[in-house]
Amino acid sequence: MIPAPEPPDPDCAACSKPILSGRLCLVQHGELYHHRCMSRTLELKVAEEQERAVEAKTRAAEAMDRAARLIEEAKRRRAQWRDGKRTP
Ligand SMILES: [Zn+2]
Repeated sequence: MIPAPEPPDPDCAACSKPILSGRLCLVQHGELYHHRCMSRTLELKVAEEQERAVEAKTRAAEAMDRAARLIEEAKRRRAQWRDGKRTP
């Protein structure tokens, strides 16, 4: 009797190379990854998120500066209005 053929090794979702039997692998959302491929993927994601956070922080600081300038301008105009020095 001929034994049933072994199913092929599954492919890594990151690099598309087979994950050999007995090798450490990780499962995420039903997909298999080599441990090294998952680590590299996560490192890249972290770097991207850090870059995005720095950009968001810069935009927030710019928005706060702009808001502060607008508040000061509104205060100045209100004071001029109150003092009867209307400006166009
Ligand atoms: Zn891989």
